[in-house]
Amino acid sequence: MGDKNIVVVGAGVAGLTTAYLLSKNPRYKITIAAKHMPGDYDIEYASPWAGANYMPVSVRGTPAQEWDKNTWPTFFDLAKNHPEAGVHFQRTEIHNRKKDISSATAAWFAELVSPNPWFSTLFDDFREIPKSELKEGIDNATCFTSVCINTAIYLPWLLSQSLKNGAIVKRAVFKHIADAAAPGVHSSGCPADLVVNCTGLSASKLGGVEDKTVVPARGQIVVVRNSAPAMVGTSGTDDGSDEACYIMTRAAGGGTILGGCYQKGNWESQPDPSLAIRIMKRCVEICPELTGGKGIEHLDIIRHGVGLRPVREGGTRIEKEKINGVWTVHNYGAGGAGYQSSYGCSQAAVDLIDDALTGKARL
Ligand code: FAD
Repeated sequence: MGDKNIVVVGAGVAGLTTAYLLSKNPRYKITIAAKHMPGDYDIEYASPWAGANYMPVSVRGTPAQEWDKNTWPTFFDLAKNHPEAGVHFQRTEIHNRKKDISSATAAWFAELVSPNPWFSTLFDDFREIPKSELKEGIDNATCFTSVCINTAIYLPWLLSQSLKNGAIVKRAVFKHIADAAAPGVHSSGCPADLVVNCTGLSASKLGGVEDKTVVPARGQIVVVRNSAPAMVGTSGTDDGSDEACYIMTRAAGGGTILGGCYQKGNWESQPDPSLAIRIMKRCVEICPELTGGKGIEHLDIIRHGVGLRPVREGGTRIEKEKINGVWTVHNYGAGGAGYQSSYGCSQAAVDLIDDALTGKARL
C-alpha cells in the first residue's frame, strides 16, 4: 500500500482519539481539520465541558458495552504511567434511590446504578457498600476506583500525540462532509483518499450527513476550587426527572465539577442560575466535605458551564460509506459517553478505515 491521505473532521475527543490512533501508522498522512480546537470553549464543542470520568452507562450485550470495555485499559495505563495526560484515579461511589426508577436520569444511569453491572469485573476493588454505611435516602450503592480526566490537559495532550506522529492540524468549516476531501484541505494539497466524520452534534446539520437522530442532551455544570474526597454519581434528584447529581475532582488542578442535568432536545447555551443553585445545594448535601460542612456560599466558583452531549438514537455511529465518491468513516453521536467509549469507538473506526483503504481490517 502506498501512502494514504486522510482528513479527520473534528477535534473533539472522537476526532482527536481517532487521529491519534491513525497517526501511529506511518503510511497514513493525517490532516485534522475542525472549526473548534482544544483551548476553545463553545456550545458547538462538547468535549471541553465534560467532567470527564469513566462511569459506564452502556447496556450489557450492546456494541457500546464493547467500546466502553475496550477503552478502560488505556485510561488505566494513562492514569498509572502518564501523569502528563491529566488523568488520575479516584475512588468512585454510585448511589441508587429506588424512587428515581422512572426518571430520565435513572434511565440513562440504569446499568451504572444496578448492584451487579457488567463492569463489576473490570475494577479489582468493585464492591457493594454495606447497608449500614449508606447515607440517608440511599437504597443501595457500589464503589470502585475509576478515573477522572482533566479535559483542559487531556485534549491538548491528545492533539500533541498526533502532532508528534506527523499529523497536520488546521481550522476549517465545512458545509458538506465531501468538501473535506477537496484539493487543498489535506496538507499535501491533493484530494483526500478518505474522510473521517467526527463532527458530534453538528452531524445533525452537516451536508451529506444530516442525521436527524442526533439531538442534544444539555448538561449544566459548576466548576469550583473546592475538592471532593470521591467521585459520586446518583440515580436522580427530587428537583425534576432530567436533573442529576454528580461530583468529580479533576486531575492536576482542574477543579471539581458539580453536575448536572440531562435535558434532551434543549439547545440553550446559557447557564440557568436557578439550576446552578440546585446543583450546588445537591452536591454539598451529598458531599458536605466540599465546604467543610458549611453551605453553598463556601463554594469557590471558577465558572458556570453548559455543554450539549451529542446523543444519537441507536447509539454512536461507527460506519463507512461512499459520499460523492469519497470513502467516509463516521464516528459521532457518543452522547454522554464520549470519553469513556473513546478508544473503543476510535479503534472500531480505524478498523473500518483500514478495511476501506487496504481491504485488510485488524478485526
Ligand atoms: P465535539 O467535542 O462536539 O467535537 C466536534 C468537533 O467537530 C469540533 O472540533 C467541531 O468544531 C467540529 N465540527 C463540527 N462541525 C464541523 C464542520 N461543519 N466543519 C468543521 N468542523 C466541524 N463523557 C464521558 O465519557 N464522561 C463524562 O464524564 C462526561 N461528562 C460530560 C458532562 C457534560 C456536562 C457534557 C456536556 C458532556 C459530557 N460527556 C462525558 C460527553 C462527552 O463530552 C461527549 O460525548 C464528547 O465530548 C463528544 O465528543 P465529539 O468529539 O463527538 O464532539
